[in-house]
Amino acid sequence: MSRVFNFSAGPAALPEAVLKQAQEELLDWHGAGMSVMEMSHRGKAFMSIAQQAEADLRELLAVPDDYKVLFLQGGASSQFGMVPLNLTSDNKKVDYINTGSWSKKAIAEAKRFCDVNIAADTEDSKFTVTPNQQDLQLSGDAAYVHYTPNETIQGVEFPYIPDTGEIPLVADFSSTILSRPLDVTKYGIIYAGAQKNIGPAGLTLVILRESLIGNAIEGTPMMFQYATHAKAGSMYNTPPTYGWYLAGLVFQWLKGKGGLSAMAEINQRKAQALYTAIDASDFYANPVEVKSRSWMNVPFTLADAELDAKFLEEAGAAGLQTLKGHRSVGGMRASIYNAMPEEGVKALIEFMVEFERKYG
Ligand SMILES: *Cc1c(COP(=O)(O)O)cnc(C)c1O
Repeated sequence: MSRVFNFSAGPAALPEAVLKQAQEELLDWHGAGMSVMEMSHRGKAFMSIAQQAEADLRELLAVPDDYKVLFLQGGASSQFGMVPLNLTSDNKKVDYINTGSWSKKAIAEAKRFCDVNIAADTEDSKFTVTPNQQDLQLSGDAAYVHYTPNETIQGVEFPYIPDTGEIPLVADFSSTILSRPLDVTKYGIIYAGAQKNIGPAGLTLVILRESLIGNAIEGTPMMFQYATHAKAGSMYNTPPTYGWYLAGLVFQWLKGKGGLSAMAEINQRKAQALYTAIDASDFYANPVEVKSRSWMNVPFTLADAELDAKFLEEAGAAGLQTLKGHRSVGGMRASIYNAMPEEGVKALIEFMVEFERKYG
């Protein structure tokens, strides 16, 4: 068996230690005589798994007591709809900041239910910058303000938390949650699909302030109401049990690594090393303004796009896989989430230097 360094944007690499533990526990979880996949979600064994996972996540992110943590299905994309459905029963005015492909999708969905004010739009820059706080045209009386802290496709990350005063701030944290410490108190809702930095696809994490629950618009299906899931401890129906369990193993792994401050140091080193290598060369380029460069998703182009196929082929052969950039951006993209070890980034940089020497 040989594992590659997998730079996929999502579903993305998981920590090897977590996969090994899941393998060990696959057939018989802690003497239960069955796999976690086969257990009742209401049984004692799974309840203990679920509670431990939530407790560990709360510890990692220092989630305050007046916030609920929900383990849902449907992906981040279902939150694009759930957020407006649940927050706009009284007020249809909402603010959105448009900084890339995922912001755009969230905006398109919100427009189906609300009056969307675009508080800032960086498309003119081809989504290579983030707006400054003073450039945000906030309504002041919106039901909430939505933004995307890290645009997975463009590799653009906010270097600050937008200040929205009393208006709840809602954030799609899919590709940067758990990459560093986070001040949850600044947010009304944080949501994330699991398949980038939490666990396997199929699980969606929502952290929300309790006071925002219970305002769903008339006719919202039960499954799309936060109140339903908050009241039932995410067990209104069968939750994604195996994903919840694996996320719990990832939380344990993160705690073992020293928590999110320790991860932040590692992640910053990884990103810094890769951007430094890109900037030091005339052959590779990253278009994002320096202060808004993502720690998690690093897009880069080759000076000659004709060499893209060769780059991908030789990188793949060297055990560096899934580096193809998103079709809307082109070139390459290295996603370097928590599970990507520093050796993986080092190996990529060495490969890039050698590739440039041969073909540059
Ligand atoms: C991947 C991603 C999504 C979509 O997630 P799904 O779970 O596939 O719906 C949404 N937003 C961001 C920022 C993402 O990275």
